[in-house]
Amino acid sequence: MIYPWFDSVWSAVLAQRDRSHHALLLHGPAGIGKSDFAAELTRAWLCESPAGDGSACGRCAACGWVAHGSHPDLRVLSPAVEETAEGAEGATRPGKAPAASTDIKIGQVRALERFVGVGGHRAGCKVVRIDPADALNVAAANALLKTLEEPGAGTRFLLVTHRPDALPATIRSRCLAVPLPLPAPATAIDWLVSRTGAARPQAAQWLAAAGGAPLRACGFADPATASTHRLVMETFSSLPETSVVRAADALNGIEPSVWVGMLQSWIADLQRCCVGAEPRFYPERAARLRVLSQATSLRVLDRLACGVATLARAVDHPLNPRLMVEDALLRVRAAWAG
Ligand SMILES: [Zn+2]
Repeated sequence: MIYPWFDSVWSAVLAQRDRSHHALLLHGPAGIGKSDFAAELTRAWLCESPAGDGSACGRCAACGWVAHGSHPDLRVLSPAVEETAEGAEGATRPGKAPAASTDIKIGQVRALERFVGVGGHRAGCKVVRIDPADALNVAAANALLKTLEEPGAGTRFLLVTHRPDALPATIRSRCLAVPLPLPAPATAIDWLVSRTGAARPQAAQWLAAAGGAPLRACGFADPATASTHRLVMETFSSLPETSVVRAADALNGIEPSVWVGMLQSWIADLQRCCVGAEPRFYPERAARLRVLSQATSLRVLDRLACGVATLARAVDHPLNPRLMVEDALLRVRAAWAG
């Protein structure tokens, strides 16, 4: 299924079905459904009996294999699960799940060389989908260059990312960039209402908190996510009056990637209020944001935003999550220290 906000780009890409560049770089904001778009395009390219507009039929053998993840002419690269997560000592702790890597590694790319080098199993093209492409580490990206440069006949690449700048320029220059748009708010709210059954004002609030990204917003419909979200917002909103220890206790156990992203949105709203603009992410907390913004300055908030951006780079590997929370909260409180 193609989300309604992708309709025009979907038609344009399908119209190019047989003439298009061999490597497309799908990019756009996080949480808008780029991966689903890429999966649907993969289906369309591999379908052996496509509809008149070029989309997948959903009934042929190829469509069935794609659905079951067993199409012989399809490879999907994403960050690997580490099989020896405990490293050289080999001391795998009982009950500990293998760690998910954040990288796509060179071995995964090398395995592609044989795949693109031989003919396809079926009459159609072969497809390599790399999602997220920014997860390619340096060695893997370098290995991919050669394959992108001299692909075997009939091989198509689909790279997906919300951080195209994180890809080496050498990779970007070998792809045709296809920007996927953030939907108009009304389109996204219609979709959220039909998807979740929520009332429009609630859907609008979720959409704002997600920065306009509808799939991210949809996550807030889950009661557990919604309550975590509320707790984090109440904690940030309670600063600077609440103590750092108390606020850190409240955030205990919440994934850094969740609260750091929300803190960045909170600071962005404070910056907007500081210059007299309306908050973008948390309009329902506009009154509190205005009061707070009047008691600090744009210069101080800019410094705070930079400090939190530095923390954000470590969210996937925090050395000590508690220290990270306290560090962030100390910075936030300092913005109102006078
Ligand atoms: Zn089909």
